Amino acid sequence: MIAKPDRISRSALSSVNVSFEFFPPKTQEMEESLWDSISRLAPLSPNFVSVTYGAGGSTRERTHATVSRIVRETRMKPAAHLTCVGAARGEVNEVIRDYHGAGVRHIVALRGDPPTGIDQPYAPHPQGYQTTADLITGIKAIGDFEVSVSAYPEKHPQSPNLLHDIEILKRKVDAGADRAITQFFFDNSVYFRFLDVAAAAGINIPILPGIVPVQNFKQTANFARRAGSSVPAWLADRFDGLDDDPVTRRLVAAAVCAEQVIDLIDRGVTDLHFYTMNKADLVFAICHLIGLRPQMAEAAEAAA
Ligand code: FAD
Repeated sequence: MIAKPDRISRSALSSVNVSFEFFPPKTQEMEESLWDSISRLAPLSPNFVSVTYGAGGSTRERTHATVSRIVRETRMKPAAHLTCVGAARGEVNEVIRDYHGAGVRHIVALRGDPPTGIDQPYAPHPQGYQTTADLITGIKAIGDFEVSVSAYPEKHPQSPNLLHDIEILKRKVDAGADRAITQFFFDNSVYFRFLDVAAAAGINIPILPGIVPVQNFKQTANFARRAGSSVPAWLADRFDGLDDDPVTRRLVAAAVCAEQVIDLIDRGVTDLHFYTMNKADLVFAICHLIGLRPQMAEAAEAAA
C-alpha cells in the first residue's frame, strides 16, 4: 500500500534533500540520454550529483569528462567517484589533481573491486593506497575536498560480519570522511538497524540511504545478489508475472519506491541518494511525490 498523503507532514517534506548518481556514458546515444536525464533532474536542485568510476578505473577519462561538463554547464555540484584498486599512488593523485583543476570539490572515495572480479580476494597495488582510509588521507592532503564513502547495511559481500564493516567505516570516518552513502536495500529496517550499530560505534557522519528504483526487476535482482543486498520475497511477488508487461512494471516500480521513500521520511530521514541508472522518469516522479518541485532558474537553464 502507498502511504496516505497525511502521513508525511509538510515540514518533513520541505526539509528533504536529494542527490543523484549517474554513470559515465559509453556511446553518443548514451551521452544524449544521460544529458536528457540530467536536464530533467537538475531543476530539482539536488544537494550533489555523483558520477561513478568504472571498475578498476576503466572510465577514468569518461568520468572526468562527465563531471567537468556538469561543472561547466550546470549549477549542480558534482561528486566524482574514485577507486584506488589496481593503481599506483601517483596515478591516483594525478586523477585527484585533475578533478581539483576542473573545479570538482567532492570525491566519493572507494577501494573498488579486484580487476579479476568482485568475487576474487582483494590485494592492494604494491605502490598504491592500501585502504580506502589511506585514500581519504591522500585526497584531503591534496585539496579542500568533501569526501563521501560507501557503507553496507547488509555488510559487504567479502566482509566476515557487520561489525567488521562498521570498523572499516569508522576508520574511513577517522580519516576524514564527511558522509557515507549506503549500498541499496529494500527493507528499511536493515538500514535503521545499521544506523543504530554505527551510532553505537561512535560514527557521527550522515549515512544517506541509497535508493534504487527497480527499472528492471531481473536485472536489479542479479545486481543485488552480487552486491550483497537482499531481495525480499514480497518484492519478487510484486513484480511476479510482469516480465513482458513493461507498462505495469513501471507503475509497480514507482509504487514500491514511493512506499520505501515515504517510510524513510516518516521515520526521520532527511537526505536521500538515488541510483538513477541514468534514467530520470521514475526518480523525478518520486521526488515530485515527496514534495520537490523544479526551481525556475534551473529549469530555464536546463531548457536553454
Ligand atoms: P571499503 O569500504 O574500503 O571496504 C569494503 C569491505 O572490504 C569492508 O567492509 C571489509 O569487509 C573489507 N575490507 C576493507 N579494508 C579492509 C582491511 N584493511 N582489512 C580487512 N578487510 C577489509 N565501485 C566502482 O568500481 N566504482 C564506483 O564508482 C563505485 N561506486 C560505489 C558507490 C557506493 C555508494 C557503493 C556502496 C559502492 C560503490 N562501488 C563502486 C562498489 C565498491 O567499489 C565495491 O563494493 C568494493 O568491493 C569495495 O569498495 P569500498 O570502497 O566500498 O571498500
